Amino acid sequence: MVEKRSDVTAAMRIVVKVGSSSISGDNVHQLATIVDALAGAHARKVDVVLVSSGAIATALPHFGLSARPANDLVTEQAAAAVGQTMLMVRYQDSLNRFGIVAAQVLLTSGDLESDATRENAKAAIEKLLELRFLPIVNENDTVATHEIRFGDNDRLAALVAELVGADLLVLLSDVDALYSHPPGEPGAEMIEFVTFGDDLSGIEIGSIGSAGVGTGGAETKIAAALHATHAGVPVILTSAANIGPALSGDSVGTWFEASSR
Ligand code: GLU
Repeated sequence: MVEKRSDVTAAMRIVVKVGSSSISGDNVHQLATIVDALAGAHARKVDVVLVSSGAIATALPHFGLSARPANDLVTEQAAAAVGQTMLMVRYQDSLNRFGIVAAQVLLTSGDLESDATRENAKAAIEKLLELRFLPIVNENDTVATHEIRFGDNDRLAALVAELVGADLLVLLSDVDALYSHPPGEPGAEMIEFVTFGDDLSGIEIGSIGSAGVGTGGAETKIAAALHATHAGVPVILTSAANIGPALSGDSVGTWFEASSR
């Protein structure tokens, strides 16, 4: 069982979530950093599932846009349809360096609420892992409306970690950890460890992630981390640049202790 950072290298099943701003635009190079770390874990026979946003962000330049179109769901859906294939091509190109084949898994929140579709998703992901493919999960944006969206992929990642019974969930963003106040503000202290059941209401969270291309912030990450830890899955919250050290069990980011399942 993974209870602390020094147990991370013993994890057998890991879900990693990366947000749009960490792998698009000026940060597009970080996609290879993430693939390097995932391939390292895969080589150690760890089951790895990636939850990746970035479909809409990847397509924006092709729509002549620099930010997500506010209140224009149908353009976002069209952008997701264009960007999702581009994103998968980028991942597969990078994974080719390691001989790993990606599998695209697109889910809606309704799919995880209904027993039949949830069990189908679980069985398919289990089979992919057994066959050593790398499932890359994203929200099925073309059919997800505002009302039925996961809200952001942080929540999706926590639900997937619960679905597959992961030993560890790693939430990656543009900030290296959770801080007591918005990073950069006076008195902002990095929080290294969140004990299960800790009251986090005193934390003045700032936004995590560059504005314009993704939707999640620190708040959605904390909510996702709490969901996962309640389901017995510990969580590391750190920056995409730190994924290598995080998966090596180094002391990076914020560790959210899980309930004892
Ligand atoms: N699924 C969306 C995408 O791939 C992003 C969801 C989110 O904002 O995290 O662009």
